[in-house]
Amino acid sequence: MKFLLKLALLFSLVISTSFASEKVYKLKMATTWGPTLSPLIDSAYNAAKMAEKMSNGRLQIRVDASNKHKSPLGILDMVKGGQYDMGHSASYYWKGKDIATLPFTSMPFGLTAPEQYAWFYQAGGLELMQKVYAKHKVMSFPGGSTGVQMGGWFRKEIKTLDDLKGLKMRIPGFAGEIMAKLGVQVTNIAPGELYTALDRNNIDALEWVGPSMDIKMGFHKIAPFYYTGWHEPASEMQFLVNKKSFAKLPADLQEILIVSMRVAAYDMYVENYDMNATAWEKMRAEYPGIQVKTFPKEIMDAMKKANKELRTELSAKSPELKEVLDSQDVYMKKVREWTKMSDYLYLKDNI
Ligand code: CA
Repeated sequence: MKFLLKLALLFSLVISTSFASEKVYKLKMATTWGPTLSPLIDSAYNAAKMAEKMSNGRLQIRVDASNKHKSPLGILDMVKGGQYDMGHSASYYWKGKDIATLPFTSMPFGLTAPEQYAWFYQAGGLELMQKVYAKHKVMSFPGGSTGVQMGGWFRKEIKTLDDLKGLKMRIPGFAGEIMAKLGVQVTNIAPGELYTALDRNNIDALEWVGPSMDIKMGFHKIAPFYYTGWHEPASEMQFLVNKKSFAKLPADLQEILIVSMRVAAYDMYVENYDMNATAWEKMRAEYPGIQVKTFPKEIMDAMKKANKELRTELSAKSPELKEVLDSQDVYMKKVREWTKMSDYLYLKDNI
């Protein structure tokens, strides 16, 4: 009888633990991107898929693209307010609300993707990001890098600083402010109208991303000069997680979520690298007249000067921004020495 009782107890224990471990946690994630905007949204889908598989179905994340929630630039507010548990976006979209969030995407003349990942994961970048986002009651994690973004498509070649004076260009954000300091007439045009604006000479130049995403926009058909990058050397997308939603998850699911986001970020970086190579091969074959250009030294020097001035102005207003920029600067000094003697010299001698 005693034995049977013990057996029954054991059985009920097994049942209850297995029920506890079978509890399904459902999260909702909103993205800035439309449902097919590869490779950006792929990172969100991929993280959700991995989390579900690794948790054996216990962690389910529903991804809502921007056509569903209609608020592509409201992700931080929605995650903060709890309408969504998670978001996939980019930190620099929040610079108007909190300037200290700006450097977690990419800074002009800043770290490259491998350097920036090393900063995030090995040199305190991730901790600084959590510190900045703590006041918004969310956590933020790297969400996939575009790597070096191209400097943009220009209808005319840019040879001197004078060529920039009065040039009409779509280049948003911090880089746009730098260009404005150089005399560029910076305009903001909705993505869907960019091709027509360039085609009808309403603008003379624009920047978007790189071959991977530019090819669908068709700019290469109408603007033959493709300038190399300087302003977004490693634009990192971002996962946002509401702190309360995260705290409700058991420890193993928290870890699964963190690992899923980290792997999804890496996967997006790789996916985009390959998409760039594939798209560029196609563009070059179909439009052999495209010329890849780098901005002359005179222009690069002027951009660097304007960049420095802007950073100083903003840092004076926000000690928190200064702390993040200083951390990146200190790390860049160290890591760039290695990049120079490894990747840079290897490539220089083998291209
Ligand atoms: Ca861009």
